[in-house]
Amino acid sequence: TVLASVLLIGGVFVLQGWIGVGQLTTAALIAQMLVDPVGIILRWYDELQVAQVSLARLVGVRDIEPDAGDAALAPDGRHVHADRVHFGYVEGVDVLREVSLKVAPGTRVALVGPSGAGKSTLGRLLAGIYGPRDGRITLGGAELSRMPAERVRSHVALVNQEHHVFVGSLRDNLRLARAGATDAELWAALGAVDADVWSRALEEGLDTEVGSGAFTLTPAQAQQIALARLVLADPHTLVLDEATSLLDPRAARHLERSLARVLDGRTVIAIAHRLHTAHDADVIAVVENGRISELGSHDELVAADGAYAALWRSWHG
Ligand code: ATP
Repeated sequence: TVLASVLLIGGVFVLQGWIGVGQLTTAALIAQMLVDPVGIILRWYDELQVAQVSLARLVGVRDIEPDAGDAALAPDGRHVHADRVHFGYVEGVDVLREVSLKVAPGTRVALVGPSGAGKSTLGRLLAGIYGPRDGRITLGGAELSRMPAERVRSHVALVNQEHHVFVGSLRDNLRLARAGATDAELWAALGAVDADVWSRALEEGLDTEVGSGAFTLTPAQAQQIALARLVLADPHTLVLDEATSLLDPRAARHLERSLARVLDGRTVIAIAHRLHTAHDADVIAVVENGRISELGSHDELVAADGAYAALWRSWHG
């Protein structure tokens, strides 16, 4: 195209008698030789721009950090408070609307309601995975969505069926939760979730390589590793999307005992898929169509004879 345009424009110039044929030929040859170098310069210019953007991002991340030390972002206490929260995954569709909920330290809250009502979504917001579209979620007065993720994780954790075993040693997998943990602390965490029997039987102990291609953990074992990580991270509030339903009943019962020990003394917000979780909770929040429609203890809600009472009766068959 460069050659063509030089010839075209040059041709006109020659016809007008402004330049000679020799000059046109020279110009065409020079233009042809310039094509490659100019291409290279443009390519490099592209690369430089990408590099500049990446660098700006890196610098941007560094710039955010000091802000994180802001006292307003440091929780004072363990109260979890959702205040008129709105949230949606797609523009214009609110999955949660005007949801307010106060959770006192150490209480057990169960979220119940029909499928798709927004229970898991509310759980993710309370765990700081997503930030609300409108309204606030605070932990000890500090807004969760403005806290750096690392700080959020040290206070609140989401426990669900998605647990990952990473390629590396068992020790590496556990230390993800607390980088400086000693072997004694790791064994204590494994013991706390009843995982020490099988893990002590491993020939290489904490050095055992796990993950794809190495020693394969059973689903129950992988789940125990996830729980041991929780023990190490030691968050005071847990959002629990009931985690045992994928396992066979025996493993599930075993895991439930481990879990019960991990939950002890912490604030627990459980997304209840089963009857007894709700029944045993201090407070039950019924989520219907993106709102909390009822709030109270099991006895209160049964007495109120509303949606929960109906769910309870149908659960009972
Ligand atoms: P279940 O008991 O079936 O888990 P739930 O009450 O926990 O239901 P949510 O999973 O919170 O309900 O879903 C609420 C709504 O948000 C549903 O309409 C669902 O389709 C939608 N939703 C959930 N997760 C996403 C997502 N990642 N992206 C888009 N929409 C989502």
